[in-house]
Amino acid sequence: MDLCHDCHDFARAISQRLRSWPGLDSFSNVDRLRAESQNCRLCKMIYDYTFADAQKAVPYQCSELFYRPCYDNPFSIPITSVELSIHKQSSIKIAVWSDEGSAAALSGKFCTEPPLPSDNCPEAFAFIRSWIQKCSQEHDLCKGTFSKSCLDEVAGPKLPTRILDVGPLNHESVSLFETNGQRGEFCALNYCWGPEGTQTLMTTRDSIKDHRKGIQFSSLPKTFQDAVIITRELDIRYLWIDSLCIIQGDESDWKRESDTMAEIYQNAFLVIAASGAANPKEGCFSTESRCQTAVEVPYYSAEGQAAGSIKLSMRIRGEESPYWGPLSERGWAFQEWILARRVLHYMPQGITWKCKMFESGERDDYDMGQYCDSWEDMLD
Ligand SMILES: [Zn+2]
Ligand SMILES: [Zn+2]
Repeated sequence: MDLCHDCHDFARAISQRLRSWPGLDSFSNVDRLRAESQNCRLCKMIYDYTFADAQKAVPYQCSELFYRPCYDNPFSIPITSVELSIHKQSSIKIAVWSDEGSAAALSGKFCTEPPLPSDNCPEAFAFIRSWIQKCSQEHDLCKGTFSKSCLDEVAGPKLPTRILDVGPLNHESVSLFETNGQRGEFCALNYCWGPEGTQTLMTTRDSIKDHRKGIQFSSLPKTFQDAVIITRELDIRYLWIDSLCIIQGDESDWKRESDTMAEIYQNAFLVIAASGAANPKEGCFSTESRCQTAVEVPYYSAEGQAAGSIKLSMRIRGEESPYWGPLSERGWAFQEWILARRVLHYMPQGITWKCKMFESGERDDYDMGQYCDSWEDMLD
């Protein structure tokens, strides 16, 4: 398939990082996109993904093209995606990258990483490890807790009363562990319980003995399984999940443990938030395929010469901000996100890292440093 005239202009604009140009408006014309999608591979990609299954196309206006990872992306940072703004609050998001060694990559203007194929792949965990490394090395603010107590960096904080020992990767079970004041790093899971009766696996007075011996990985609901995988992949030994670590149906245990909940979320090395899941069966990892077909378009050098290509693919539709996910509707979720030092949000559209200094997605990057003081003042 070929490229239409407007898409050649689009490729030229991306190569030169133009935010608007005379041909941009032609992408507002759904009838044109539909007609061109017979012959043009980029029009087809945008049309198929954005409009083909829409009940009726809402009129929109392509007013500007934004470059990511950051707002007002400086020319010196390689771009990871573009956003075609179509409404005030909505945009068509397209991942952009170049092959290693290509003219586009050598220009330093384009990243060389294709989109992550899934949430549960080595590349995704490498991303998370790089966020953790940046946060632990560069952010003093993230070393302390919300209530400003300092944590013992060597021994780790005091562990909650009970915690899951996740064991090594691919181990077939996890076990409930009474910590007796022991210290160590742990993750805490933040998730929706779902409607009453959805929660199938809980620790009770009857099951606690068995849970100490071991809980089969296969018997965990998907959200818990995914959280165990994430914890193991990050080389952290312990994971706190309320329904398994607090004795359900035991009022005195519930009272005692829920009093320490704020401390648990503050002390956790990382809070894993299943922000896109309405109940524990839906999981952290998205099941929607991320492997969209890539379309190649020409890259134009600074002199305007065609020099190899760049690759584009559609990013998953929808809002990736966790504030729009089902978990955000749960009363405590917000509180737990604010208390946490670091939160890893899983949404169908991708993974988002949030610590006190830095917010980042696979292809977006926001430095929160400048907002930190006012944010904390606001809560005081
Ligand atoms: Zn086209
Ligand atoms: Zn940080």
